[in-house]
Amino acid sequence: MSKIYKDLKLKIEDDLATHLAWLEPNLGEFRVLKQSVDARARHAPHFIYSVEVTKQGEKLSEKAFSLEKISESKQKSVGPNSPIIVGTGPAGLFAALRLVERGIPCRIFERGSKSEERIKGINRFWRYGELDTKNNVCYGEGGAGLYSDGKLITRIKSEHIPYVMNRLVQFGAPAEIEWLSNPHVGSDKIRRVIPKLRSYLLENGCELHFDSQVTGLLYQDSLGSSGSKRIHGIRTIQGQSFFADHVILATGHSAEDMLNHLMENDVFVEGKSFAMGLRIEHPQKSINKIQYRDYAEHPKLGSANYKLAHHDHKTGLGVYSFCMCPGGYVLSSGTESGGIVCNGMSNFNRNSPFANAAIVVTIDHQKLFGADRMGGMKLRKQLETDAFLAVQKSGGTKELPVQSIKHFLDSKLDSESMTTSSPSGIRAVRLDQIVPKFMKEKLIEGLEAFDRNMKGFISADAKFYGIESRTSCPLRVTRDPATLQSVSHAGLFPCGEGAGYAGGITSAACDGIDCADQIFAEIK
Ligand SMILES: Cc1cc2nc3c(=O)[nH]c(=O)nc-3n(C[C@H](O)[C@H](O)[C@H](O)COP(=O)(O)OP(=O)(O)OC[C@H]3O[C@@H](n4cnc5c(N)ncnc54)[C@H](O)[C@@H]3O)c2cc1C
Repeated sequence: MSKIYKDLKLKIEDDLATHLAWLEPNLGEFRVLKQSVDARARHAPHFIYSVEVTKQGEKLSEKAFSLEKISESKQKSVGPNSPIIVGTGPAGLFAALRLVERGIPCRIFERGSKSEERIKGINRFWRYGELDTKNNVCYGEGGAGLYSDGKLITRIKSEHIPYVMNRLVQFGAPAEIEWLSNPHVGSDKIRRVIPKLRSYLLENGCELHFDSQVTGLLYQDSLGSSGSKRIHGIRTIQGQSFFADHVILATGHSAEDMLNHLMENDVFVEGKSFAMGLRIEHPQKSINKIQYRDYAEHPKLGSANYKLAHHDHKTGLGVYSFCMCPGGYVLSSGTESGGIVCNGMSNFNRNSPFANAAIVVTIDHQKLFGADRMGGMKLRKQLETDAFLAVQKSGGTKELPVQSIKHFLDSKLDSESMTTSSPSGIRAVRLDQIVPKFMKEKLIEGLEAFDRNMKGFISADAKFYGIESRTSCPLRVTRDPATLQSVSHAGLFPCGEGAGYAGGITSAACDGIDCADQIFAEIK
């Protein structure tokens, strides 16, 4: 039987194994469940651990997941009515994996290419500005998750989280994500997981169609027995039709063309609140200095992070940091040639000399757009286009638009050169003129509040990048909470972030699993 020690406080020089051996003279194995740094000003920084230990001769338990399957006779390969999955982000891939593990191979359609090809398209874009609309930071095998920062922490409560971590480890992610409370894989390691997962799906009878954008769903002419409409397949860009009773639509938050197609065909879609803003970047040294003070250079502390929020009780609007990437890079991550989007990522070691985080403002759909369900989408597009035009006007081509925090606050254009982590390069523009007035005011309010919390957060070497517009989808493809099918169209399982049911890698993967389990229950 293992035992858990919570909230063990250790000085940064102390050795955990030695401390545990002192606590448990009969110590067997141990693993760290949680490690955080308490760097509050009143004392020297120290680590806080939760640790699971065993006695000598005992082993720490391995997690095992056994799933009910459909009968052997049905398990070999896909057939003409096998489930279809659209999109190979975390939602689509985990839906496919779950179906396969339940004995139901499926057909998967992806608008972009295999990850190895996709990466070439991304590099061309960053280097030469040639956007490949099929293969970019959001599209292609692995979805937005492939080029993500790979933080796997989530706010959702789902029984599937241990399964997701276990399977990621099975396909090559670091073993520690199975037990750490704030797991991080890093972009470099996620990229190695995806081809292994692909091989597993293929070996187990799935069909994978790359470079096969799904341009529309197939709608049944007659109403079903319950009077509801049904979909019965998909159509691809090659003009081919594929039929299925179950279609999981996991196309991510950028696939506006698919959302337009759904609305044109009366699939029920509604506007939803989301968040939008800019991305801030500091030298990592400055963040380490603020958080760790005299210990900033201590080799055991690594790159410091932060999490900040400011809530205005009068308006109910919040401004907060999101997707903080210590030792990271700011990426140009758009999907359309006339718009600019930024996002952040880091590698497993988090060792770039920069720290970045989104600073976003709540976009309350009802308050801002009322009955206009496309309001959020229109605002997102407008800001991305304005950012693109500003870069062009400044003489740039492929660069990300930036403004120092100092000049964002005093409404001026930067004239001095700035350093950047971004592989696309940067151009100085007036971001304060691009974001709407309410957003600018909220961002300033937030910056001032954050600077009170973290003295030096507003500094001469901090800058904003534009536009952090794709934190989640401004629309929801509404589904029945029990069947997980569209409320207007049976057979359609809107899934993951693009459908409005996830906001990150782990939650998207869990949503894919839920949809797959629902299909399993129906087929069984
Ligand atoms: C740079 C970056 C960093 C991020 N960092 C983190 C992080 O650290 N932690 C975290 O939790 N989240 C992070 N995210 C967000 C996370 O990646 C997404 O929440 C997650 O990938 C959503 O999963 P999904 O499967 O719902 O959609 P996506 O991952 O967006 O996948 C959708 C897939 O559908 C495909 N597709 C779209 N339209 C079609 C079509 N018509 N036909 C066929 N295929 C189609 C796309 O090509 C894509 O592969 C980051 C995102 C980015 C861009």
